[in-house]
Amino acid sequence: MTNPLFDALFAPHVTNDAPFLHLADGSTQSYRAFMEQVARFAGMIVEKGLGVGDRLALRAEKSPAALAVYAACMQRGVIFLPLNPAYTTDELRYFVEDSGAKLFVSDDPAAHAGLAPQVIALNADHATPCTEVAARLPDDLAAFLYTSGTTGRSKGAMLTQDNLLSNARVLTDYWQFTQDDVLLHALPIFHTHGLFVATNITLLTGGSMIFLPKFDIDQMIAHLPRATSMMGVPTFYTRLLQDARFDHALTKHMRLFISGSAPMLAETHSRMKKRTGHRVLERYGMTETNMSTSNPYDGERRAGTVGLPLPGVELKICDPQTGEVLPTGNIGVIEVRGPNVFKGYWQMPDKTAQELRSDGFFITGDLGFVDADGYVTIVGRGKDLIISGGFNIYPKEVEQVIDDQPGILESAVIGVSHADLGEGVVAIVVADGPLDLDDLRAVIAAKLARFKQPRKIILVHALPRNTMGKVQKNVLRDTYADVFL
Ligand code: ATP
Ligand code: MG
Repeated sequence: MTNPLFDALFAPHVTNDAPFLHLADGSTQSYRAFMEQVARFAGMIVEKGLGVGDRLALRAEKSPAALAVYAACMQRGVIFLPLNPAYTTDELRYFVEDSGAKLFVSDDPAAHAGLAPQVIALNADHATPCTEVAARLPDDLAAFLYTSGTTGRSKGAMLTQDNLLSNARVLTDYWQFTQDDVLLHALPIFHTHGLFVATNITLLTGGSMIFLPKFDIDQMIAHLPRATSMMGVPTFYTRLLQDARFDHALTKHMRLFISGSAPMLAETHSRMKKRTGHRVLERYGMTETNMSTSNPYDGERRAGTVGLPLPGVELKICDPQTGEVLPTGNIGVIEVRGPNVFKGYWQMPDKTAQELRSDGFFITGDLGFVDADGYVTIVGRGKDLIISGGFNIYPKEVEQVIDDQPGILESAVIGVSHADLGEGVVAIVVADGPLDLDDLRAVIAAKLARFKQPRKIILVHALPRNTMGKVQKNVLRDTYADVFL
C-alpha cells in the first residue's frame, strides 16, 4: 500500500533528527518532533471519524501545528482545506459549507462554534498517535485550495497528490534546492506559494525553513544571515529595498531570491541587482496549476518576464475568442497543460467546463505573449483588459509609462463605464511627494496613442492589496465606477 505524497514528503522524516523549522523565538523544531506531532493530529483525525476523501478545514495563524495538520491529512487521505485567518466568520462559513468539511480545526474554536458538524481546537496534545498511512493513488484528491479572490469570489481548486508532488519535484530540480538549504519563509501557509511551493520543496529535500509568522522588516533583516534562499511576493522585495540595512553585505551569502504571486516590476528587479548583486528569479503560477513557468536558475533571468514553461508543462498563447494558437509574439490568453494542472473547481462543473478543456489545457485567464526565445511575459488578466472606443488597452502598458516617471511609486490603470467609449481609462497613482499632473499628462501623451491615455488621473496614498500583495482592481473599479457618469 502506498501514498505517493506522504511517502515522498513526510515518511522519510519520521526518524530524521535534522532541523525542519527555525522559529521566530529562536527555537528549532526537528523533523522527528514535527512528525510526532503529525502522528497525534492523525490520531485526532481518526478519533473524529474522518476517513479517506473527507474534508478537514483549518483556520489558523501560521504555526508548526498548522503544517502538522496538513501532513496528518495527507497521511490519512483526508482532503486538506486551509483557510485565511483574516476571513470573517461569514466568509469562513461560506468556505466550510461549500467544501462540506466534516471537521473544522480552529485556533479560536469558541468563535467558530457551529460552522461545521465538528469544531475543535488546533491542539492534539492528548490524542493517541496514529502512524498508519492510508493508501492513495496519484490521481486522488489531496487538497482544496481556494483561489485568492482577486477577481471575484474564491473558487475551490481540487488538487491531486500528483499535482502537488510532480510540481514539488520539478521545482526542486529546477531551482536546485538541497538538504543544505535554509529557506526564509515569511509567506502565509493557506496559499499555494507558502504552502505547496515553499513547504513541499523543503520537505522533499530535507532542508529547513526559517518560519516567520509574517513579513516584518526587522525580523527579515535579523534572519537573512542564516538563510540560503528566500521566496516572496514582490512587495517583500520593495519593502526590503526601502531599508538601508538590506544591502550587498547582508545578502552576499544568499543562493537564491524567488518572486511570484503578483507581477514584479522590472524596476524592482534591477534595483535588487544594483543593491545586492542578485537577480531575482521570477516565476508564474496559480492556485489551479501550481507553478507553470520560471526563469532559469543558470541561464538568463529576464526582468519583467516569468521565464520559460517548466519541464513537463506545455504552454500556448491563444486567441481569446476562437481558442486558436497565435503566432509567436502575439498577445493572447495563456493556456497550460501538464501534471501540475488541477482537476477542476469543487462543485462548479460549469465553470470547470468553461476553463478546463477536454484535452487537458487550462485557460488561465491571464494575457501574455511568448518571445522568440520562449520567455513568457504576462501583460495582465483578461478581466482587467480595457476596451475603450472599440480598442483593446492593456493596463500594464500604460502603468509602465506612468511608473517610469520620477516621483511615482506605482500605479493601477483600470477601465470604468463611460457613456461614449464603453469604458474610459482611469489611472490611480501613488507618488512619493507632490506631483504635477499636467507634466505627467504631457509625458503620457508623448509616449502613448490618444486612445490609451488616461482620461482621469487620481492620486492616492496606497493601492488596495490583498494578503498576497495583489492589487485589487475590482475594488478600484467599484470605488471609481462613477467618475465618468
Ligand atoms: P482569483 O482567481 O480568486 O481571482 P487569484 O487569481 O489572484 O484570485 P491565485 O491563484 O492566488 O488567485 O493567483 C494566480 C494569479 O496570480 C495568476 O493568474 C496571475 O494573474 C497572478 N500571478 C502569479 N504569479 C505572477 C507573476 N509572476 N507575474 C504576474 N502575475 C502573476
Ligand atoms: Mg485566479
